[in-house]
Amino acid sequence: MNQNLPSCCFCGTQLRHVFADLGMTPLANRNLQRDEIPHERKYPLVARVCNTCFLVQVDHSVSPEALFSDYDYFSSFSESWIAHARRYCDLISERFAIGPQSLIVEIASNDGYLLQNFKAVDVLGVEPAANVAKAAIAKGIPTDIAFFGVDTARRIVARGRHADLIVANNVLAHAPDIRDFVGGFSVLLAPEGVATFEFPHLLRLIEDGQFDTIYHEHFFYLSLLTVEKVMNSAGLRVFDVEQLPTHGGSLRVFTCHSTARHATTSRVEDLRTSERRHALDKIDGYKGFVARINDIRAQFLNYLASAEASGRKVAAYGAAAKGNTFLSVCGVAYPRIDAVYDRSPAKQGKFTPGSHIPILAPDQIKKLRPDDVIILPWNISDEIVRSMSFIREWGGRFVIAIPNLKIL
Ligand SMILES: [Zn+2]
Repeated sequence: MNQNLPSCCFCGTQLRHVFADLGMTPLANRNLQRDEIPHERKYPLVARVCNTCFLVQVDHSVSPEALFSDYDYFSSFSESWIAHARRYCDLISERFAIGPQSLIVEIASNDGYLLQNFKAVDVLGVEPAANVAKAAIAKGIPTDIAFFGVDTARRIVARGRHADLIVANNVLAHAPDIRDFVGGFSVLLAPEGVATFEFPHLLRLIEDGQFDTIYHEHFFYLSLLTVEKVMNSAGLRVFDVEQLPTHGGSLRVFTCHSTARHATTSRVEDLRTSERRHALDKIDGYKGFVARINDIRAQFLNYLASAEASGRKVAAYGAAAKGNTFLSVCGVAYPRIDAVYDRSPAKQGKFTPGSHIPILAPDQIKKLRPDDVIILPWNISDEIVRSMSFIREWGGRFVIAIPNLKIL
């Protein structure tokens, strides 16, 4: 037994298999003010896979306080995400007969962008970031400022009601204690209630080489097979699953108490079969990923060297966690890329972590006229190409690095 190896956050097995080692990287969600640059800290970023339950997990090298104390991301700033939330609310209200008697709880409810779609129904948000929760409360959406888990669930239930629907979008992968987190759903959910979880699908990450979605705040990378084990351990059952295009390919799983009446759809077994076909139930399914990362990085560095050799000025678009991880791992910094354009006013005027590239408003691009623009959030590249197509006027090109280098 090697005492230095961490153990699996879910089943306790020692983690002997490295899935991806991305070296020393700064926190990917933390864009910097100029005076913070000299004090920037870096932490090892290693994802391991458990050979018993196949949970892919990053080492806990940063304290939760350092990770989540302050973030300048408000959901309401992303139009496509707001539309996604609205569609979800319509669909779920109809399918599960959500009505005036229902209680809907959202975990990591942010500024209330999703719950505000439910009219004439009791809603409750649970959100740990106080600045964001206060924005929701100001809009009239009741919100508990708390991390979710068994204790928080018991506190809510003590007020007299269980939840008919619990919404958990993009939070399961960010809960440091996954057993306690999922245990909270089992406490809070009404006997025939439904809890839905959305998270990026590990199968898509592996197939499409999405190593830039690995970062310190993102603890877990999940397959359906592993999520079912986690749910079962808390007395919950997955009865349906949908594959969504969001975040480069996500799953939405529908769960209920194991004793509830919801019938299991054939989509569950179909996806289990697909994951087994890709060997996600064996260590072999995880082994080639390190080589894949090296290949994508080499393709990108070759492209950049040849762009530089021919005198092209290179910029990037999208100062989000993904791009920050990508540039850190490639070891590319300012001035090789001279600006990152981003629509969020909260990010403009700051610098990207690790690569220290200035973040500018998109209208600045017409002044600086870069020859190439690297689209860092490749998952919304269509949207970006459409809105920035004017760069073609001066011969500008778009570049995407994942899953393979492509010049558009
Ligand atoms: Zn495990």
